[in-house]
Amino acid sequence: MNEFQKALELTTESLQKLKEGGSGLRGSRESLRRLAAARPKAAPAPAAAQSSLAKAAAVAAPPSLEVFPTTGASKEERIQQLRTAVTPCAKCPQLARTRTQTVFGVGSIDAQIMFVGEAPGADEDEQGEPFVGKAGQLLTKIIETMGVKRSDVFIANVLKCRPDMPAGSSGNRRPSATEMQTCLPYLRAQIEVIKPTVLVALGAVAMEGLLGSVEPMSRLRGRWHEFQGIPLMATYHPAYLLRNQSLSEKRKVWEDMLLVMERVGLPISSKQRGYFL
Ligand code: URA
Repeated sequence: MNEFQKALELTTESLQKLKEGGSGLRGSRESLRRLAAARPKAAPAPAAAQSSLAKAAAVAAPPSLEVFPTTGASKEERIQQLRTAVTPCAKCPQLARTRTQTVFGVGSIDAQIMFVGEAPGADEDEQGEPFVGKAGQLLTKIIETMGVKRSDVFIANVLKCRPDMPAGSSGNRRPSATEMQTCLPYLRAQIEVIKPTVLVALGAVAMEGLLGSVEPMSRLRGRWHEFQGIPLMATYHPAYLLRNQSLSEKRKVWEDMLLVMERVGLPISSKQRGYFL
């Protein structure tokens, strides 16, 4: 190996470490555009080896480290800038056509805990606020059982638009991997501004949007992951709890929340420790 190859290998290794560490580094639009233009065409991985998110990334190819740049001096200004960018967003033309409005997120920009769901449903699309339907009411109950007000946490979704539904059909559809990949820079930027102590992903789809992991929640929950250097707890989506009302499933979510409470230093009473046993 000559000196150039050695240097190249060291540089690649360092960049990979930065990427894995989710360092929050940003590239300017212009430098990212130039890098993308200069990138040699890689041979595609075998289809079976690609997760749905990886497939979407191959199609849409947005830069994986892209964080929507905010330049305001204060948190309030930066969040406002982000909101202004999200409101008219039409990166997914079909969603922009069918939504009532974008759903930015709600709560305290100084929150220690930030909850991340998958996408707005019909109620959220109508009201412009995440988690206001039946699942949202349950989420609010969970938050309050932790001894915290809903307004003290921040709640957002991977997708800021309601996934469109075929004409005449009700219910919600799962966001596609491409939609999540396209919208993720907004969430990354929200996290970058708010800098919560912990993140909580609600459901396996939110986890797929954040980390690209396509594992079942039974394997993801109850342990710490990491996103942009921030501890990330995975737990079942409240809609799952509405469908599965058994004490044992409620307890699993509650145990995840106890871990979150411990991590942020919330007091935990013995009554709280014993819920759903
Ligand atoms: N489900 C979600 O994932 N997000 C919402 O905002 C509402 C329901």
